[in-house]
Amino acid sequence: MNSSYLAGNVALVTGATSGIGAATAALLAERGAHVLVAGRDASRGESVTAAIRAHGGKADFLAADLTTAEAARDLARRATDLGGAVDVLVNNAGIYPFGPTADTAEDQFDAVYALNVKAPYYLVAELAPAMAERGHGSIINLSTMVADFGMAGMALYGSSKAAVNLLTKSWAAEYGPRGVRVNAVGVGPTRTEGTAQMGDALGTLATHAPAGRPASPQEIASVIAFLASDEASFVHGAIVPVDGGRVAV
Ligand code: NAP
Repeated sequence: MNSSYLAGNVALVTGATSGIGAATAALLAERGAHVLVAGRDASRGESVTAAIRAHGGKADFLAADLTTAEAARDLARRATDLGGAVDVLVNNAGIYPFGPTADTAEDQFDAVYALNVKAPYYLVAELAPAMAERGHGSIINLSTMVADFGMAGMALYGSSKAAVNLLTKSWAAEYGPRGVRVNAVGVGPTRTEGTAQMGDALGTLATHAPAGRPASPQEIASVIAFLASDEASFVHGAIVPVDGGRVAV
């Protein structure tokens, strides 16, 4: 496959200022896409875009705090204005607080569902119809292995991503017939800025899978880039496990 296989595509990656999102932005740019790096933190955003440009890629930063439907719709509109169109949407921004159900405050519940569920929902609502009108597009949602099985302490986070899994299939049904492929990656423990605070717990979680170790962000990004490309042209509505084999055994 030609290494510039995403040339001519505009890709919007949310949460691209850190971790899996930053690795995805870098890889999509390396494959030729014009990448729109979204996040709240402008200095992290500028350093991600500067690194992409230093490697000959095309990237711009778009600041967005994705806590409301209007913020998501506004980001989608700005991305469309800047890129001319959005061909690839990576719904990556997410938060994953863990803890007992009984200790979950309402504002924490609302924050998880606002970023993990509502923001992708309204980004898709704003962008997928235009993709469908053009007859092509690819949407990749970030999900997790703990949307597939119950784990104590993960009720809030896991349920938000279980919603994302069903949305992935619903959107595949809704937009797939008009050329828009919608898929998800079911991610296992991955070393990112966000999981750094988990310390040894991340490695311990990873020991339950055949791979026996956490992933690098690049190992997740490579599957996202595949799903974004025409190489995945017959893949619709899939939740692809990228978890070192955890949900398989
Ligand atoms: P991370 O390092 O914690 O980065 C999270 C990203 O989300 C940052 O770029 C952050 O950017 C952005 N973000 C946070 N709150 C936001 C808000 N209110 N509005 C807009 N952007 C916001 O995350 P990660 O570990 O790479 O995880 C990325 C995705 O993979 C998430 O959806 C996560 O649930 C999923 N996942 C991760 C793992 C793992 O082990 N790492 C496992 C399974 C699934 P700013 O701070 O600049 O806003």
